[in-house]
Amino acid sequence: EEGERLQKVLARAGMGSRRSCEELIDRARVEVNGEIVTEQGLRVDAEKDQIKVDGLTISTQAHLYFVLNKPAGVVSAMEDPEGRQCLGDYVQNRETRLFHVGRLDTETEGLILLTNNGELSHRLTHPRYGVQKRYLATIEGPIRRDLGKQLTDGIRLDDGYARADNFRVVENVGRNYLVEVTLHEGRRHIVRRMLAEAGFPVDRLVRTRFGPIALGDQKSGWLRRLTNTEVGMLM
Ligand code: URA
Repeated sequence: EEGERLQKVLARAGMGSRRSCEELIDRARVEVNGEIVTEQGLRVDAEKDQIKVDGLTISTQAHLYFVLNKPAGVVSAMEDPEGRQCLGDYVQNRETRLFHVGRLDTETEGLILLTNNGELSHRLTHPRYGVQKRYLATIEGPIRRDLGKQLTDGIRLDDGYARADNFRVVENVGRNYLVEVTLHEGRRHIVRRMLAEAGFPVDRLVRTRFGPIALGDQKSGWLRRLTNTEVGMLM
């Protein structure tokens, strides 16, 4: 049978226990698509049907938010017709369809948000909102003292200038440099292209932050649910 039982959808939307949601229905306080429902067990489509309690529309979609620490070699798609490793391989057995918020190139690792909140996903990836992202890049030195200034002033690429908001050297061992680049840009391969253009091809690239959300010490390939505080910061 299609859909879900009305009392289940009501309960998930925060209207109380299933039992108390059945009471709401008994008391004719629930409407589905403009009709008062009093029989129990009606099946509804939580995404399409308009459900009201006491005349007010309730939010029935259970929004889910996850952060995946994407390993290198994984395609930023939920499914891959060519059968390559993709994000969907890390979220199996989830009930709802999730979207990835933006992309990381296949060789790039790190933080990628997954959600079934399509509206939020769209907003966060829209250039107009300019979400700030942060990356750690491994490059080979010696680097020039003015590399940071060059990146924050703007690097000329095939498709126009690209500017970093911030640059710092995190670690330097011999010729190996770990540098952090923070930027609002969303163009393809942007960090790799900027550093390569400046003379420093990137070996390993990891995204550590997306807007207010940080990767932390989550292991590669692990998915975690955002905390309520983190979800609040995204809104
Ligand atoms: N910059 C890159 O080079 N790759 C990404 O995946 C994201 C930003």
